[in-house]
Amino acid sequence: MHWADVIAEDMAKRGEKHIIATGITPSGPIHIGNMREILTGDLVARAARERGLDATLIYIGDTFDPLRRVYPFLPPEYSQYVGMPLSEIPCPCSSHSSYAEHFLEPFLKSLQTLGIDAEVLLSHEMYRKKMYSEAARRVIENRERIREILTEVSGRELPPDWFPYIPRCSACGRLNTTTATGYSHPFVSYRCKCGHEGKADIRTDGGKLPWRVDWPSRWWFLNVTVEPFGKDHAAAGGSYDTASRIVREVFGREPPYPVVYEWIQLKGKGAMSSSKGIAISAVEMLKMTPPEVLRYLVARTKPFRHIDFDPGMGILNLVDDYERAERIYFGLESGEELEDIKRAYELSLVDPSRRPERPLAVPYRHLVTLVQIKPSFEEILKTVKRTELSGGNLTEEDTERIRQRAEAARYWLDRYAPESLKITLYEEPPERAVKELDEEAVEALEVMREALLRIPWDAEEIHNTVYEASRAHGIDPRKTFQAFYLIFLGSRRGPRLGYFLSTMRRAEVLRRIERALEMVRSHGKG
Ligand SMILES: [Zn+2]
Repeated sequence: MHWADVIAEDMAKRGEKHIIATGITPSGPIHIGNMREILTGDLVARAARERGLDATLIYIGDTFDPLRRVYPFLPPEYSQYVGMPLSEIPCPCSSHSSYAEHFLEPFLKSLQTLGIDAEVLLSHEMYRKKMYSEAARRVIENRERIREILTEVSGRELPPDWFPYIPRCSACGRLNTTTATGYSHPFVSYRCKCGHEGKADIRTDGGKLPWRVDWPSRWWFLNVTVEPFGKDHAAAGGSYDTASRIVREVFGREPPYPVVYEWIQLKGKGAMSSSKGIAISAVEMLKMTPPEVLRYLVARTKPFRHIDFDPGMGILNLVDDYERAERIYFGLESGEELEDIKRAYELSLVDPSRRPERPLAVPYRHLVTLVQIKPSFEEILKTVKRTELSGGNLTEEDTERIRQRAEAARYWLDRYAPESLKITLYEEPPERAVKELDEEAVEALEVMREALLRIPWDAEEIHNTVYEASRAHGIDPRKTFQAFYLIFLGSRRGPRLGYFLSTMRRAEVLRRIERALEMVRSHGKG
């Protein structure tokens, strides 16, 4: 059984109604690890719904968290905002309403592209709307109990002035400069390093709970039943352990079902972390990977296994795997672990409401070629219509899918693709390349000029003809391939030849062969 279905089965044993919570502190570009978290939540939610459960996915932006330091991607003047809530700091590009929005907005947009249906909650609004009101009271009134739990479970002594509530200074706006000095419901009195003394109203956004008590509090008032989280929270004595005891002993309910996920590693760079500056953001990853393929990457891997993400050649291999899963799903190919692959494919569909039909299969590798040799998307479409088994008809959905994929391929080629995959189609055979044609290559082109004249003009026929006609004349087919690449691309290598030639009109291919042979002859005379 697929891992998401195993979790859904466990959920069914616990009840009908489920809240699956995920989230992030939007302190910088949201990285691909968080993409894994919310995709994991979405896959579980889908599996649960298909089982007849009432499952809601929520995404919590911890917008009320303070800015911890001036990250390398920030201008130095941001030092004045350290300690202030992310929701109240100006946006670095000044087109968003706050620092938090600046990083959340593009990520939330990418969730739509990925077909993730999540209810978004922002913590600064949750505090302001008094959602924490009762939880904060319980936490503060049970502070001795909580102190014991934290000490026992995490094995760390807490400082004597530890207090489970962080007042926000009403004079300087900071959360990291205050010390609680007393409590009389609903106010926590405090002293701030700026000199101000005041009272924070715990019913609203007068301050916030620290992470280790915030987490169990929101489990309680949001009724969270399932939560995917990174393995750092899952360590023995870590925040899941302490939160579990707090939610049981202070709020009287069970902790959510944990779905612990491993990191996504950038190939060769180790675990991704935006603070170390080696991350590719989630938004960036989506720009270079078709959304269903990105879903598939997470769906096919069990959460506790790490994922190596290679933004170079790895993307192509990933799309190859996805296309293979598609063929398996539609019964065109067989292999090992069929059921899991089929299920992962199904869970990768961006729109789960529609039963999948086999989409027009334009291999991604072909699109990578097309976007490099065709001047516009219109030309790409024309070529697809001419060369694929589309019967000349593309549905609106086909067109949209090809557009999305062509954009991803273009983005990837410009930034991450290995040089060996980049090609330039020359209008005329380049002089220097023609000079590299030896006698056998010239003969190969002469043979091809005749052989390609009358065959049906499609990729497979062209491919077979190049092989057969070369062999019939005692020419190594590899030599023929090379000759073509030289006169079309000015290089000894290129994409699969049959498909590549089929993307051009026959007359155009023959014209270039003719032109190259002419150039060879005129060199001979010179
Ligand atoms: Zn202050």
